[in-house]
Amino acid sequence: MKVSIIGSGYVGSVSAACFAELGHEVICIDIDEKKVEMINSGRAPIWEEGLDELLEKYSQKTLIATPDYDYAVQNSDASFICVGTPSGKDGSIDLSIVKAASASLGKAIAKKDHYHVVVVKSTVVPETTEKVVLPIVEENSGKKAGKDFGIVMNPEFLREGKAVYDFMNPDKIVVGAIDERSGFVVSELYRGLNCKVTHTNPRTAEMIKYVNNSFLATKISFANEVGNICKQLGIDTYEVMDAVGTDFRIERRFLNCGAGFGGSCFPKDVKAIIGKANEIDYKPQLLESVVDVNDRQPLKMVELLQGKLGELKNKRIAVLGLAFKNDTDDIRESRSIPVITELLRQGTDIAAYDPMAEESMKKVFHDITYCKTSSEALEEAEGCLIMTEWDEFRKLDKEFGLMAGKVVIDGRKMIDPKKLSMEIDYEGICW
Ligand code: NAD
Repeated sequence: MKVSIIGSGYVGSVSAACFAELGHEVICIDIDEKKVEMINSGRAPIWEEGLDELLEKYSQKTLIATPDYDYAVQNSDASFICVGTPSGKDGSIDLSIVKAASASLGKAIAKKDHYHVVVVKSTVVPETTEKVVLPIVEENSGKKAGKDFGIVMNPEFLREGKAVYDFMNPDKIVVGAIDERSGFVVSELYRGLNCKVTHTNPRTAEMIKYVNNSFLATKISFANEVGNICKQLGIDTYEVMDAVGTDFRIERRFLNCGAGFGGSCFPKDVKAIIGKANEIDYKPQLLESVVDVNDRQPLKMVELLQGKLGELKNKRIAVLGLAFKNDTDDIRESRSIPVITELLRQGTDIAAYDPMAEESMKKVFHDITYCKTSSEALEEAEGCLIMTEWDEFRKLDKEFGLMAGKVVIDGRKMIDPKKLSMEIDYEGICW
C-alpha cells in the first residue's frame, strides 16, 4: 500500500521506516527541511537503534520525504498524523500542531478525486479525532468524512530507544475507526506483523493510549513513594518490590524507584488526561498525586547532596546523565533538568556528561560545562549525581578517584559501593 507520514520525529520517522520494511511505499512530510533532507539522504533525523539502517535501505527507493502535502496525498492511500502534542501552559494538551497538520491535510485532500484515510497517530485526548481533526479536514477539503475520506485513531506505544523493535513487535495494535472501511485500510497496513488488531471507536483508542501511559507513570510514582518510606525505615525497597512483583496481578516491571520519570510522553500525557478530566468537571486526585510525587522526586537528589556537602555555592558537581533515560538523545522532561536548574540556582559549578544527549541539552543550558567522558566530569568534583541509567555508569569505579570529594548520590541504583575498589561517600535516592 501507499502511505504518507506527517511529521518525521520519533514516531513519524520510525513508522515510516518500519512501514517501508513491511513492504509499503512511504512518503514522509515534514515542515522541517533539514529532516526532509536527512531522510532523503538515508540518515535518521533522530537517534534510534536500527533506524539509520532502515532509512539507508529504503531511502529514494520505497521511502522519500517532502514538505509537499499535495504530492504526498495524491500519491498515497492513507496519511498518518504524527506531529507533536505538547503540554499547554496549564498542562492540558496543546493541539495547535495537530490542527495545523489537519488543515494542510484537508487542503491536499480537497484536490484528490478518490478516497483517502486520515489516521491520527499523535497522542491526543479523547474526542480529539472526532471533534477536532474530523471537522478541520472536512472544512478544508470540502469533503465528507465516512464518504469521501475515512478517519482512524491509531495510537503508538513504542518506547524511545527501542522504537524500531517495538514497532515491528507490538503487544497491541489499536485501530479506532469511524467506520469499517477506514479501519480495514489501517489494519491491512499492519498485516505483516504478528499481532492481533483491536478494533474500537476513535475515543476508546485515544483513551487506551492515556490509560496505558498513566498506569505506567502511576506505578513509577507509587514505587518512588514506597521507596521514600522504605529508606526512612531502613528497609530495602528493591527487596520489597522483588517480592511484591512476583504477584502476577502486580508485575515487577516499572516498580524500580529513583529520580522519577521524564520523556516526551509520561509527564505530558498524565497532565493532558488530568486536563481533559478537569474539562468535564472531574478532579483526578490520584493522577495529580502521580505528577506531584514526580515533581518532588528529582529535587531530593539535590537535598541529599546538600546534606553531605552543606552549602553548594561554587562547588563543582558532576551530573552524570542528561537524557531522560538510557539509549536515547531525548532530554524532554528529563529529571536532570529540574536538578540542574536547582543546582544553578544555588550557584554550583556543573560538569555534565551524557554519552548521547549533550547537543540536545545545550539548547536548554548553554552555560554549564559539558564533558566528553565521565572521568572528565568527575575530575575535581566534590559531588556527583547519577541521573540516567546508562550502562557505562554501572562500570564506574576508579574514575571516582578523580573526584576532590567522594560524594556520590545515585538516582538510578547504578553503583554498588561494596563492589568498588575504593571507598566513596555513597547514598541512593531511596536506598
Ligand atoms: P517530534 O516532536 O519528535 O516530531 C514531530 C515532527 O512533526 C517534527 O519533525 C516536526 O518538524 C513535524 N511537524 C510539526 N508541524 C508539522 C506540520 N504542520 N506538518 C508536517 N510536519 C510537522 O514528536 P514525536 O516524539 O514523534 O511525537 C509525535 C506524537 O506521537 C506525539 O503526540 C507523542 O505524544 C506521540 N508519541 C510519542 C512517542 C515517543 O516515544 N516519542 C511514543 C508514542 C507516541
